[in-house]
Amino acid sequence: MREEKALFIIFGGTGDLAQRKLYPALFNLYRRGHIQKSFAVIGTARRPWTDEHYREVVADSIRGSVDADFYTEAMVENFADHFYYQSHNVNDTEHYMILKKLAQQLDDEYEIGGNRVFYLAMSPRFFGTIAEHLKTQKLVTDHGYNRVVVEKPFGRDLATATELNQSIEKYFPADSIFRIDHYLGKAMIQNITAIRFGNSIFRNLWNNRYIDNIQITLSESLGVEERAGYYETAGALRDMVQNHILQIVSLLTMNAPVSFNDQDLRQEKISALKSLKVYTPDEVAHNFVRGQYGPGEGVHAYRDEDNIADDSAIETFVAGKLEVENMNFAGVPVYIRTGKRLATKATRIDVIFKKMPTNIFPGVALTNNVLSIDVDPNEEITLYINDKDYDTGFKMKQLPLAYRNQNRDCPEAYEKLLHDLLRGDATNFTHWEEVKYSWQFVDAIRSAWDMETPAFPNYESGSMGPQAADELLARDGKQWFFDPTKTN
Ligand code: NAP
Repeated sequence: MREEKALFIIFGGTGDLAQRKLYPALFNLYRRGHIQKSFAVIGTARRPWTDEHYREVVADSIRGSVDADFYTEAMVENFADHFYYQSHNVNDTEHYMILKKLAQQLDDEYEIGGNRVFYLAMSPRFFGTIAEHLKTQKLVTDHGYNRVVVEKPFGRDLATATELNQSIEKYFPADSIFRIDHYLGKAMIQNITAIRFGNSIFRNLWNNRYIDNIQITLSESLGVEERAGYYETAGALRDMVQNHILQIVSLLTMNAPVSFNDQDLRQEKISALKSLKVYTPDEVAHNFVRGQYGPGEGVHAYRDEDNIADDSAIETFVAGKLEVENMNFAGVPVYIRTGKRLATKATRIDVIFKKMPTNIFPGVALTNNVLSIDVDPNEEITLYINDKDYDTGFKMKQLPLAYRNQNRDCPEAYEKLLHDLLRGDATNFTHWEEVKYSWQFVDAIRSAWDMETPAFPNYESGSMGPQAADELLARDGKQWFFDPTKTN
């Protein structure tokens, strides 16, 4: 097992993301041996914590989220000993000097060799000032790598994203900035390239000659919960479509990369996103549906949730029909939908193949072949084929050929992404050009929507969104393949 050496400086070390995702992910890398002796973590935030308290917080976050079968208490304690806390206001220049000293001391003590990961687990409004201070106060080293990790949201439109990007790129080279989209760390999302480019049957069929349409569903059963403040400024379009959904669209519709490395793969994803038709306001009205949840069984309407305006016009649901204007996908509609308080929690991709050009079986209805990729909560691939019923006579039925991943100890998204980061592999991080084309597409929808006040609420909690989301497909003679409101 190759040991990766790194000093992590986590800005926002007391925050939710750090505690729920980063510490357990780092621990999993530790117990699998990817990081061993030569690593240390400095957590920084304003709270005046001690190293001891910080280590307790880190240990508790692991006990609360990693399966107890996979570790011993001694492992947790040894791991937590690598953690140090530095109380620090990111706006305060003096603190960077103290941080620099501590970083140098830990680098020597743990023989890290100058590799630094600056993880900005805090509000993007601080990214520019942190990047500037890291550079001017010389926290970057000249004898190892210096990588900056940033979280979503990356801007709220193309203009703010560009500004944010420039504020970091002014101090760090483009290839040292790792933009996290944690969907790209999910096993089944990573599996898309394996399925598409590792199987000749799919390689040959993956185009507008054989695919009828593609459907992507990211549905949540929860409401806005404690994220009201952020959500009221974002909405489902910015929160889910600009990043996660468009990333999935790019993986499904890109051309084959020349080789499987970050540069070639991201180049094709950029082209796929560039191929998305940017809609006019009329086209937005025709191809996009927005919704906001009303009440349901035992739950409030969005507008009645804490810290939400009584007349909020924020969408908690989006459905849309995307057009990819490239040789392989022109004419294949890509239907997407995402929302809160829907019938189930699921991330799901359905690739619907065209029907047989003619049906030689009298009196038999043939169904479309469908490749379904369940991303969450199960990791499952199902290929639906038409199969002869095994009774006498000749009847056909739709047969699901399914594989479900049962491994309880598969690395979780953040663990995989952090491991890639340590190895300098940017394949599963979003390139700036991808961010740029995604915003360009989303901004056109947002600005069209902002011209009119929507009639909200327009869907019942526990449903699969407004009726208009079904009509979007029905008018093309299609329907959502995934329908959790129906019992099969
Ligand atoms: P959070 O819980 O509010 O944490 C924010 C952190 O920033 C805290 O550690 C806070 O600590 C620190 N902080 C705030 N102002 C500071 C200042 N002036 N100087 C130094 N430290 C300061 O937020 P979060 O949920 O962890 O999210 C962090 C980032 O990740 C955000 O960009 C968010 O959008 C993104 N993200 C989060 C999640 C998630 O699951 N939480 C998922 C996706 C993306 P003190 O109060 O002690 O200073």
